[in-house]
Amino acid sequence: MSVSTVSTVAADRPVRAPLPVLGRDVTVPLVTGGEVVHAALDYAASAPALQRVWDDVAAYAPHYGSVHRGAGHLSQLSTDLFEDARRTVAEFLGCRLEGGPGEARPGEGGGGRREGDQVVFTRSTTDSLNLLAAALPDGCEVFVFETEHHAALLPWRNARVTCLDAPSSPRQAVETLERALADRHPHGPALVCVTGASNVTGELWPVRELAAAAHAHGARIVLDAAQLAPHRPVSVRELDVDWVAFSGHKLYAPFGSGVLAGRADWLRQAEPYLAGGGASRRVTRREDGTVDVEWHDGAARHEAGSPNVIGVHALASACKALTEAGFDTLAAREEQLIRTVRDGLADLPEVRFLSLFGDDAPRVGVLSFVVEGWNSSHFAAALSAEYGIGVRDGLFCAHPLVRRLLGGDPRDRGECGAPGAVPGEKALGAVRVSFGVGT
Ligand code: PLP
Repeated sequence: MSVSTVSTVAADRPVRAPLPVLGRDVTVPLVTGGEVVHAALDYAASAPALQRVWDDVAAYAPHYGSVHRGAGHLSQLSTDLFEDARRTVAEFLGCRLEGGPGEARPGEGGGGRREGDQVVFTRSTTDSLNLLAAALPDGCEVFVFETEHHAALLPWRNARVTCLDAPSSPRQAVETLERALADRHPHGPALVCVTGASNVTGELWPVRELAAAAHAHGARIVLDAAQLAPHRPVSVRELDVDWVAFSGHKLYAPFGSGVLAGRADWLRQAEPYLAGGGASRRVTRREDGTVDVEWHDGAARHEAGSPNVIGVHALASACKALTEAGFDTLAAREEQLIRTVRDGLADLPEVRFLSLFGDDAPRVGVLSFVVEGWNSSHFAAALSAEYGIGVRDGLFCAHPLVRRLLGGDPRDRGECGAPGAVPGEKALGAVRVSFGVGT
């Protein structure tokens, strides 16, 4: 079974950073004296925007205008660029075309003719998954692994949620899901939400296999690609997922943009995520004094209000830049960086890397570890103060997963206790280093 969504390329010689990012040459003073160039190893939290993205935004700025509503030249231009950005994202994600190959799924309508995917612009992955959660059909069951980021674990408040045990291998992930889906009531709608790459371990999940398992049991699947999309190509069509969600700020665009792309039917049948201008096609005041609204069917239904035009433009620019740089090149560099960190720390028996699927499992450039005898936040603070290295520490918005990886009970309501923590002090999880194109 293939566990990686793409094959990674082994590289024996250094591969230079293919895409410059802005503002990475900041020097920071050290407590030990002197200064160093700050090394930000926290791309999994937010990736600095690419120089090219800022350039594209600057080039667009003189043409700035409201979208979808104005008749003026700048408005028309802005609208065209906004809709171009939607097409760029659809292409980046390998969205299914209307009438393209494949059967329509039950409930899709269109007389068996496949409906095209919809790209909805949101604020972030969190926003995208909350939008989908708000669009679930009545009685929908949701299946998630306990290993998910809270953005994927928590939005499903109106559904019956089954939280599955962390698997110890990709194969076990598929088997666990298959078992859970086989046990459910066969006729109701169901959704599986799964990450493409863990924000804690960086490990790749068997998305294609999980999608096949979901579909075989009449369920749908949404891919949380927040960590996958900046590192590997994500194709809705090839992975055969129903939706994909990701964030601009992890993909080398500025904060504030996100995407939910995928099947249109559940989105069309749902109440608008936000009610307001742009989402409504026709609004009338009835005789009895109430208001009657006819909502749009397409992406606009869930994009009420004035959209983040600059953010969307920047996001599309980042998608193009990554595609042009080539994901194979990016993956090869990352593999080198992972090897460098692992080899560099290999002689330190105090360091234990965290993984579910094994240290050698395929992963994106994200590594978490604990250091025996150290509280993780003290360790991260020391890396910054003494070496100018910026990492993240803690539970990474994935409390049950980190608790399990630290050897605790994922149901424990207390703080995580890292093995070897300073006696009498609470150890706050692990240390995470993560790489990107500017590393
Ligand atoms: N999913 C994963 C795997 C993540 O790593 C993150 C953020 O760290 C999110 C979802 C949420 O992304 P955002 O904060 O951009 O909504």
